[in-house]
Amino acid sequence: MNLVAATPGIGNDDLALRLAALEVENAQLRRDLDASCLMAASLREANEHLVLAAVDAQTSRDDAEETNRRQNEFLAMLAHELRNPLVPISVSASLLERAPAIEGSLVRLTNVIQRQVDHMARLLDDLLDAARLSSGKITLAVEPLRLAEILEHAAETVMPRVRERGQELVVGSAGADLLVDGDRVRLTQVFTNLLSNASKYTQDGGRIEVTVDAAESITVTIADNGSGMSPETLGNAFDLFTQGPRSLARSEGGLGVGLNVVRNLVTMHGGSVSAASGGLGQGSTFTVGLPLSVAAGAAAARPASVNTTSPARRILIVEDNVDASDVLRMLLEIEGHQVEIAGDGHAGLALALAGRFDAIVCDIGLPGLDGLELIARLRAAPPSLRPFTIALSGYGQPQDRERALTAGFDRYLVKPVAPAVLFEALAGTVPAR
Ligand code: CA
Repeated sequence: MNLVAATPGIGNDDLALRLAALEVENAQLRRDLDASCLMAASLREANEHLVLAAVDAQTSRDDAEETNRRQNEFLAMLAHELRNPLVPISVSASLLERAPAIEGSLVRLTNVIQRQVDHMARLLDDLLDAARLSSGKITLAVEPLRLAEILEHAAETVMPRVRERGQELVVGSAGADLLVDGDRVRLTQVFTNLLSNASKYTQDGGRIEVTVDAAESITVTIADNGSGMSPETLGNAFDLFTQGPRSLARSEGGLGVGLNVVRNLVTMHGGSVSAASGGLGQGSTFTVGLPLSVAAGAAAARPASVNTTSPARRILIVEDNVDASDVLRMLLEIEGHQVEIAGDGHAGLALALAGRFDAIVCDIGLPGLDGLELIARLRAAPPSLRPFTIALSGYGQPQDRERALTAGFDRYLVKPVAPAVLFEALAGTVPAR
Protein backbone atom coordinates (compact mmCIF):
# COMPACT_ATOMS: atom_id res chain seq x y z
CA MET A 1 0.00 0.00 0.00
CA ASN A 2 2.82 2.38 0.77
CA LEU A 3 4.29 1.61 -2.61
CA VAL A 4 1.09 2.73 -4.36
CA ALA A 5 0.65 5.84 -2.30
CA ALA A 6 4.31 6.83 -2.77
CA THR A 7 4.17 6.54 -6.55
CA PRO A 8 1.53 8.95 -7.90
CA GLY A 9 0.46 9.07 -11.57
CA ILE A 10 0.97 5.47 -12.60
CA GLY A 11 -1.37 3.53 -14.94
CA ASN A 12 -3.95 0.77 -14.13
CA ASP A 13 -1.84 -1.91 -15.81
CA ASP A 14 1.10 -0.97 -13.68
CA LEU A 15 -1.15 -1.05 -10.67
CA ALA A 16 -2.50 -4.47 -11.60
CA LEU A 17 1.04 -5.76 -12.14
CA ARG A 18 2.17 -4.36 -8.82
CA LEU A 19 -0.90 -5.80 -7.10
CA ALA A 20 -0.14 -9.18 -8.64
CA ALA A 21 3.50 -8.86 -7.51
CA LEU A 22 2.32 -7.88 -4.06
CA GLU A 23 0.00 -10.87 -3.92
CA VAL A 24 2.89 -13.13 -4.88
CA GLU A 25 4.98 -11.49 -2.22
CA ASN A 26 2.10 -11.80 0.23
CA ALA A 27 1.71 -15.48 -0.58
CA GLN A 28 5.45 -15.94 -0.06
CA LEU A 29 5.27 -14.10 3.25
CA ARG A 30 2.38 -16.27 4.30
CA ARG A 31 4.33 -19.40 3.37
CA ASP A 32 7.33 -18.03 5.26
CA LEU A 33 5.06 -17.30 8.18
CA ASP A 34 3.62 -20.82 8.02
CA ALA A 35 7.15 -22.21 7.87
CA SER A 36 8.13 -20.04 10.83
CA CYS A 37 5.09 -21.21 12.72
CA LEU A 38 5.99 -24.80 11.95
CA MET A 39 9.56 -24.19 13.03
CA ALA A 40 8.36 -22.47 16.18
CA ALA A 41 6.09 -25.43 16.85
CA SER A 42 8.89 -27.92 16.42
CA LEU A 43 11.18 -25.75 18.51
CA ARG A 44 8.52 -25.68 21.18
CA GLU A 45 8.17 -29.45 20.90
CA ALA A 46 11.94 -29.90 21.09
CA ASN A 47 11.98 -27.64 24.12
CA GLU A 48 9.24 -29.70 25.74
CA HIS A 49 11.28 -32.84 25.07
CA LEU A 50 14.29 -31.19 26.65
CA VAL A 51 12.30 -30.19 29.70
CA LEU A 52 10.87 -33.70 29.96
CA ALA A 53 14.35 -35.19 29.57
CA ALA A 54 15.66 -32.90 32.29
CA VAL A 55 12.78 -33.92 34.55
CA ASP A 56 13.51 -37.57 33.73
CA ALA A 57 17.17 -37.10 34.55
CA GLN A 58 16.28 -35.46 37.86
CA THR A 59 13.83 -38.26 38.58
CA SER A 60 16.43 -40.97 37.89
CA ARG A 61 18.91 -39.07 40.03
CA ASP A 62 16.31 -38.86 42.80
CA ASP A 63 15.53 -42.56 42.32
CA ALA A 64 19.23 -43.44 42.55
CA GLU A 65 19.62 -41.34 45.68
CA GLU A 66 16.51 -42.88 47.16
CA THR A 67 17.79 -46.39 46.38
CA ASN A 68 21.14 -45.50 47.91
CA ARG A 69 19.47 -44.08 51.01
CA ARG A 70 17.33 -47.20 51.39
CA GLN A 71 20.36 -49.42 50.99
CA ASN A 72 22.18 -47.49 53.69
CA GLU A 73 19.18 -47.74 55.97
CA PHE A 74 18.97 -51.44 55.28
CA LEU A 75 22.66 -51.93 56.10
CA ALA A 76 22.26 -49.99 59.34
CA MET A 77 19.20 -52.02 60.30
CA LEU A 78 20.91 -55.29 59.35
CA ALA A 79 23.94 -54.47 61.49
CA HIS A 80 21.66 -53.61 64.40
CA GLU A 81 19.50 -56.71 64.06
CA LEU A 82 22.56 -58.96 63.85
CA ARG A 83 23.89 -57.51 67.09
CA ASN A 84 20.93 -58.76 69.13
CA PRO A 85 21.70 -62.51 68.90
CA LEU A 86 25.28 -61.78 69.93
CA VAL A 87 24.14 -60.94 73.47
CA PRO A 88 22.95 -64.40 74.52
CA ILE A 89 25.90 -66.04 72.73
CA SER A 90 28.44 -63.82 74.44
CA VAL A 91 26.83 -63.98 77.89
CA SER A 92 26.42 -67.77 77.61
CA ALA A 93 30.13 -68.05 76.89
CA SER A 94 30.97 -66.00 79.99
CA LEU A 95 28.59 -68.13 82.06
CA LEU A 96 30.22 -71.34 80.83
CA GLU A 97 33.60 -69.93 81.70
CA ARG A 98 32.41 -69.16 85.24
CA ALA A 99 30.89 -72.60 85.76
CA PRO A 100 32.49 -74.43 88.68
CA ALA A 101 34.90 -77.27 87.85
CA ILE A 102 35.01 -76.41 84.18
CA GLU A 103 37.48 -78.41 82.13
CA GLY A 104 40.47 -76.71 80.51
CA SER A 105 39.29 -77.61 77.02
CA LEU A 106 35.90 -75.99 77.70
CA VAL A 107 37.61 -72.80 78.82
CA ARG A 108 39.43 -72.73 75.50
CA LEU A 109 36.14 -73.24 73.65
CA THR A 110 34.43 -70.43 75.52
CA ASN A 111 37.39 -68.20 74.63
CA VAL A 112 36.90 -69.10 70.97
CA ILE A 113 33.21 -68.16 71.19
CA GLN A 114 34.04 -64.89 72.91
CA ARG A 115 36.72 -63.96 70.37
CA GLN A 116 34.43 -64.73 67.46
CA VAL A 117 31.59 -62.73 69.00
CA ASP A 118 33.98 -59.78 69.37
CA HIS A 119 35.07 -60.19 65.77
CA MET A 120 31.45 -60.30 64.62
CA ALA A 121 30.66 -57.17 66.63
CA ARG A 122 33.58 -55.39 64.93
CA LEU A 123 32.36 -56.46 61.48
CA LEU A 124 28.93 -55.09 62.31
CA ASP A 125 30.50 -51.83 63.49
CA ASP A 126 32.33 -51.55 60.17
CA LEU A 127 29.16 -52.25 58.22
CA LEU A 128 27.22 -49.68 60.19
CA ASP A 129 30.00 -47.10 59.86
CA ALA A 130 30.24 -47.60 56.11
CA ALA A 131 26.51 -47.01 55.81
CA ARG A 132 26.57 -43.98 58.10
CA LEU A 133 29.67 -42.47 56.52
CA SER A 134 28.31 -42.72 53.00
CA SER A 135 25.14 -40.93 54.06
CA GLY A 136 27.07 -38.27 56.02
CA LYS A 137 25.58 -39.27 59.36
CA ILE A 138 28.81 -39.37 61.36
CA THR A 139 30.04 -36.30 63.18
CA LEU A 140 33.38 -35.93 64.96
CA ALA A 141 33.96 -34.86 68.55
CA VAL A 142 37.29 -33.13 67.97
CA GLU A 143 39.79 -32.46 70.75
CA PRO A 144 43.60 -32.27 70.93
CA LEU A 145 44.91 -35.82 71.25
CA ARG A 146 48.33 -37.35 71.81
CA LEU A 147 49.04 -39.33 68.66
CA ALA A 148 51.15 -41.85 70.59
CA GLU A 149 48.16 -42.68 72.81
CA ILE A 150 45.92 -43.26 69.78
CA LEU A 151 48.50 -45.56 68.16
CA GLU A 152 48.99 -47.42 71.44
CA HIS A 153 45.26 -48.10 71.80
CA ALA A 154 44.99 -49.25 68.20
CA ALA A 155 47.97 -51.58 68.69
CA GLU A 156 46.41 -52.99 71.89
CA THR A 157 43.20 -53.79 70.03
CA VAL A 158 44.89 -55.78 67.26
CA MET A 159 47.55 -57.36 69.52
CA PRO A 160 45.61 -60.59 70.29
CA ARG A 161 45.36 -61.42 66.58
CA VAL A 162 48.95 -60.36 65.88
CA ARG A 163 50.20 -62.57 68.71
CA GLU A 164 48.02 -65.48 67.61
CA ARG A 165 49.71 -65.37 64.22
CA GLY A 166 53.22 -64.99 65.58
CA GLN A 167 53.60 -61.62 63.87
CA GLU A 168 55.75 -58.79 65.10
CA LEU A 169 54.20 -55.35 65.55
CA VAL A 170 56.66 -52.51 66.10
CA VAL A 171 55.44 -49.00 66.87
CA GLY A 172 58.27 -46.46 66.55
CA SER A 173 58.77 -44.09 69.47
CA ALA A 174 59.40 -41.01 67.29
CA GLY A 175 56.68 -38.36 67.46
CA ALA A 176 55.44 -39.59 70.86
CA ASP A 177 54.52 -36.07 71.96
CA LEU A 178 52.77 -34.95 68.79
CA LEU A 179 49.27 -33.61 69.17
CA VAL A 180 46.56 -34.04 66.60
CA ASP A 181 43.07 -32.49 66.58
CA GLY A 182 40.74 -35.42 66.23
CA ASP A 183 37.95 -37.61 67.49
CA ARG A 184 39.50 -40.12 69.90
CA VAL A 185 37.24 -43.03 68.99
CA ARG A 186 37.34 -42.42 65.24
CA LEU A 187 41.10 -41.86 64.97
CA THR A 188 41.71 -44.99 67.01
CA GLN A 189 39.39 -46.78 64.62
CA VAL A 190 41.44 -45.52 61.64
CA PHE A 191 44.66 -47.02 62.96
CA THR A 192 42.96 -50.15 64.30
CA ASN A 193 41.55 -50.81 60.82
CA LEU A 194 44.91 -50.18 59.15
CA LEU A 195 46.78 -52.41 61.60
CA SER A 196 44.25 -55.21 61.43
CA ASN A 197 44.31 -54.96 57.63
CA ALA A 198 48.12 -55.21 57.72
CA SER A 199 47.91 -58.27 59.98
CA LYS A 200 45.24 -59.88 57.82
CA TYR A 201 47.33 -59.61 54.66
CA THR A 202 50.63 -60.59 56.26
CA GLN A 203 51.76 -64.20 56.67
CA ASP A 204 52.26 -65.84 60.06
CA GLY A 205 55.50 -64.61 61.59
CA GLY A 206 55.45 -61.48 59.42
CA ARG A 207 56.35 -57.97 60.51
CA ILE A 208 54.31 -54.76 60.75
CA GLU A 209 56.03 -51.49 61.48
CA VAL A 210 54.50 -48.13 62.38
CA THR A 211 56.56 -44.98 62.04
CA VAL A 212 55.67 -41.36 62.69
CA ASP A 213 57.15 -38.31 61.00
CA ALA A 214 56.26 -34.68 61.43
CA ALA A 215 57.17 -31.54 59.58
CA GLU A 216 54.35 -29.08 58.88
CA SER A 217 51.96 -32.04 59.16
CA ILE A 218 51.96 -35.52 60.70
CA THR A 219 52.74 -38.59 58.62
CA VAL A 220 52.06 -42.06 60.02
CA THR A 221 53.33 -44.99 57.97
CA ILE A 222 52.12 -48.56 58.46
CA ALA A 223 54.37 -50.94 56.54
CA ASP A 224 54.11 -54.73 56.39
CA ASN A 225 56.10 -57.43 54.65
CA GLY A 226 52.94 -59.32 53.70
CA SER A 227 51.15 -60.34 50.51
CA GLY A 228 51.26 -56.86 48.94
CA MET A 229 48.88 -55.65 46.26
CA SER A 230 48.67 -55.91 42.49
CA PRO A 231 48.35 -52.56 40.66
CA GLU A 232 44.61 -53.30 40.09
CA THR A 233 43.93 -53.95 43.78
CA LEU A 234 46.01 -50.91 44.69
CA GLY A 235 43.90 -48.74 42.39
CA ASN A 236 40.68 -49.37 44.33
CA ALA A 237 42.02 -50.37 47.73
CA PHE A 238 39.88 -47.75 49.48
CA ASP A 239 36.65 -48.43 47.60
CA LEU A 240 33.65 -49.92 49.36
CA PHE A 241 33.27 -53.72 49.21
CA THR A 242 36.60 -54.37 47.48
CA GLN A 243 39.13 -56.71 49.01
CA GLY A 244 42.54 -58.08 48.30
CA PRO A 245 42.63 -61.72 47.14
CA ARG A 246 42.08 -64.12 50.02
CA SER A 247 44.22 -67.12 50.67
CA LEU A 248 42.25 -70.36 50.86
CA ALA A 249 44.15 -71.48 53.93
CA ARG A 250 43.33 -68.40 55.95
CA SER A 251 40.03 -66.80 55.14
CA GLU A 252 39.97 -64.08 57.77
CA GLY A 253 36.78 -62.68 56.36
CA GLY A 254 35.84 -59.05 56.26
CA LEU A 255 33.43 -56.99 54.28
CA GLY A 256 35.90 -54.87 52.36
CA VAL A 257 34.67 -51.81 54.22
CA GLY A 258 37.53 -51.25 56.68
CA LEU A 259 39.75 -49.23 54.34
CA ASN A 260 36.79 -47.30 52.98
CA VAL A 261 35.92 -46.28 56.54
CA VAL A 262 39.59 -45.30 57.02
CA ARG A 263 39.60 -43.02 53.98
CA ASN A 264 36.31 -41.36 54.92
CA LEU A 265 37.36 -40.76 58.52
CA VAL A 266 40.83 -39.46 57.61
CA THR A 267 39.28 -37.08 55.08
CA MET A 268 36.83 -35.86 57.73
CA HIS A 269 39.90 -35.05 59.87
CA GLY A 270 41.32 -32.91 57.07
CA GLY A 271 43.94 -35.53 56.26
CA SER A 272 44.73 -37.98 53.50
CA VAL A 273 45.59 -41.65 53.18
CA SER A 274 47.39 -43.51 50.40
CA ALA A 275 48.53 -47.05 49.73
CA ALA A 276 51.66 -48.31 48.01
CA SER A 277 53.00 -51.75 47.19
CA GLY A 278 55.83 -53.11 45.08
CA GLY A 279 53.38 -55.77 43.84
CA LEU A 280 52.18 -59.20 44.97
CA GLY A 281 54.38 -60.63 47.70
CA GLN A 282 56.17 -57.31 48.16
CA GLY A 283 54.32 -56.05 51.25
CA SER A 284 52.15 -52.93 51.52
CA THR A 285 52.64 -49.47 52.94
CA PHE A 286 49.77 -47.24 54.05
CA THR A 287 50.54 -43.59 54.70
CA VAL A 288 48.20 -41.36 56.71
CA GLY A 289 48.71 -37.60 56.66
CA LEU A 290 47.06 -35.56 59.42
CA PRO A 291 47.28 -31.86 60.27
CA LEU A 292 49.20 -30.98 63.46
CA SER A 293 47.04 -29.82 66.34
CA VAL A 294 46.58 -26.07 66.64
CA ALA A 295 46.38 -26.49 70.42
CA ALA A 296 49.61 -26.05 72.38
CA GLY A 297 48.45 -27.66 75.63
CA ALA A 298 48.67 -31.35 76.37
CA ALA A 299 45.72 -33.59 75.60
CA ALA A 300 43.29 -34.34 78.38
CA ALA A 301 44.24 -37.21 80.62
CA ARG A 302 42.36 -40.51 80.35
CA PRO A 303 39.88 -41.27 83.09
CA ALA A 304 41.23 -43.63 85.73
CA SER A 305 40.17 -47.27 85.58
CA VAL A 306 37.19 -48.20 87.71
CA ASN A 307 36.39 -50.73 90.38
CA THR A 308 34.21 -53.48 88.93
CA THR A 309 32.90 -55.17 92.06
CA SER A 310 29.21 -54.51 92.40
CA PRO A 311 27.23 -54.91 95.62
CA ALA A 312 23.96 -56.84 95.41
CA ARG A 313 21.15 -54.93 93.71
CA ARG A 314 17.53 -55.48 92.72
CA ILE A 315 17.55 -55.31 88.96
CA LEU A 316 14.82 -55.23 86.34
CA ILE A 317 15.75 -56.45 82.85
CA VAL A 318 13.47 -55.19 80.07
CA GLU A 319 14.32 -57.18 76.96
CA ASP A 320 12.19 -58.88 74.30
CA ASN A 321 14.84 -61.41 73.29
CA VAL A 322 14.08 -64.27 75.71
CA ASP A 323 17.49 -65.93 75.35
CA ALA A 324 19.22 -62.64 76.04
CA SER A 325 17.16 -61.85 79.15
CA ASP A 326 17.53 -65.44 80.46
CA VAL A 327 21.30 -65.53 80.26
CA LEU A 328 21.60 -61.96 81.56
CA ARG A 329 19.51 -62.99 84.55
CA MET A 330 21.79 -66.00 85.16
CA LEU A 331 24.89 -63.82 84.86
CA LEU A 332 23.54 -61.22 87.29
CA GLU A 333 22.21 -63.82 89.76
CA ILE A 334 25.63 -65.50 89.88
CA GLU A 335 26.97 -62.07 90.89
CA GLY A 336 24.48 -62.06 93.76
CA HIS A 337 21.86 -59.69 92.32
CA GLN A 338 18.07 -60.19 92.45
CA VAL A 339 16.60 -60.09 88.98
CA GLU A 340 13.18 -59.74 87.40
CA ILE A 341 12.37 -59.74 83.72
CA ALA A 342 9.85 -57.87 81.57
CA GLY A 343 9.48 -58.91 77.93
CA ASP A 344 8.01 -55.68 76.54
CA GLY A 345 7.90 -51.95 77.21
CA HIS A 346 4.50 -51.74 78.91
CA ALA A 347 5.23 -54.63 81.29
CA GLY A 348 8.63 -53.07 81.96
CA LEU A 349 7.13 -49.68 82.83
CA ALA A 350 4.47 -51.22 85.10
CA LEU A 351 7.10 -53.24 87.00
CA ALA A 352 9.48 -50.29 87.17
CA LEU A 353 6.75 -48.03 88.58
CA ALA A 354 6.14 -50.58 91.32
CA GLY A 355 9.36 -49.00 92.57
CA ARG A 356 11.15 -52.00 93.92
CA PHE A 357 14.29 -51.81 91.80
CA ASP A 358 17.75 -50.31 92.22
CA ALA A 359 18.48 -50.50 88.54
CA ILE A 360 16.84 -51.17 85.19
CA VAL A 361 18.75 -52.71 82.32
CA CYS A 362 16.61 -51.78 79.35
CA ASP A 363 16.69 -52.67 75.65
CA ILE A 364 15.83 -49.84 73.22
CA GLY A 365 14.02 -51.74 70.45
CA LEU A 366 11.04 -53.12 72.38
CA PRO A 367 7.49 -54.07 71.37
CA GLY A 368 4.66 -51.86 72.62
CA LEU A 369 6.65 -49.11 74.23
CA ASP A 370 10.25 -48.62 73.15
CA GLY A 371 13.07 -48.10 75.63
CA LEU A 372 13.26 -44.33 75.04
CA GLU A 373 9.53 -43.83 75.74
CA LEU A 374 9.68 -46.12 78.74
CA ILE A 375 12.47 -44.04 80.30
CA ALA A 376 10.76 -40.76 79.41
CA ARG A 377 7.58 -41.90 81.23
CA LEU A 378 9.58 -43.23 84.14
CA ARG A 379 11.23 -39.85 84.44
CA ALA A 380 7.83 -38.27 84.92
CA ALA A 381 7.34 -40.47 88.01
CA PRO A 382 8.19 -39.22 91.54
CA PRO A 383 11.98 -39.31 92.19
CA SER A 384 11.59 -42.03 94.83
CA LEU A 385 10.28 -44.40 92.13
CA ARG A 386 13.12 -43.76 89.70
CA PRO A 387 15.75 -46.46 89.64
CA PHE A 388 19.17 -46.13 88.03
CA THR A 389 18.66 -46.76 84.32
CA ILE A 390 21.06 -48.51 81.97
CA ALA A 391 20.28 -48.74 78.27
CA LEU A 392 21.52 -51.95 76.66
CA SER A 393 21.14 -51.33 72.96
CA GLY A 394 22.05 -52.69 69.56
CA TYR A 395 22.39 -49.12 68.27
CA GLY A 396 26.04 -48.16 68.64
CA GLN A 397 26.34 -44.71 67.08
CA PRO A 398 27.17 -41.57 69.09
CA GLN A 399 23.83 -40.00 68.16
CA ASP A 400 21.99 -43.11 69.45
CA ARG A 401 23.81 -42.73 72.76
CA GLU A 402 23.01 -39.00 72.78
CA ARG A 403 19.31 -39.63 72.17
CA ALA A 404 19.11 -42.24 74.94
CA LEU A 405 20.91 -40.06 77.48
CA THR A 406 18.69 -37.12 76.54
CA ALA A 407 15.62 -39.33 77.02
CA GLY A 408 16.82 -39.92 80.57
CA PHE A 409 19.03 -43.01 80.71
CA ASP A 410 21.88 -42.79 83.22
CA ARG A 411 24.19 -45.08 81.25
CA TYR A 412 24.31 -46.35 77.68
CA LEU A 413 25.87 -49.73 76.85
CA VAL A 414 26.11 -51.29 73.41
CA LYS A 415 25.36 -54.96 72.68
CA PRO A 416 27.11 -57.31 73.05
CA VAL A 417 28.21 -55.90 76.39
CA ALA A 418 31.21 -57.39 78.22
CA PRO A 419 30.08 -58.66 81.67
CA ALA A 420 32.77 -56.53 83.37
CA VAL A 421 31.35 -53.38 81.74
CA LEU A 422 27.82 -54.23 82.86
CA PHE A 423 29.01 -54.97 86.43
CA GLU A 424 30.90 -51.68 86.49
CA ALA A 425 27.77 -49.80 85.41
CA LEU A 426 25.73 -51.55 88.11
CA ALA A 427 28.39 -50.78 90.72
CA GLY A 428 27.67 -47.11 90.03
CA THR A 429 24.03 -47.49 91.08
CA VAL A 430 22.74 -46.34 94.44
CA PRO A 431 20.42 -48.79 96.18
CA ALA A 432 16.82 -47.59 96.34
CA ARG A 433 15.57 -46.56 99.77
CA1 CA B 1 14.88 -55.74 71.16
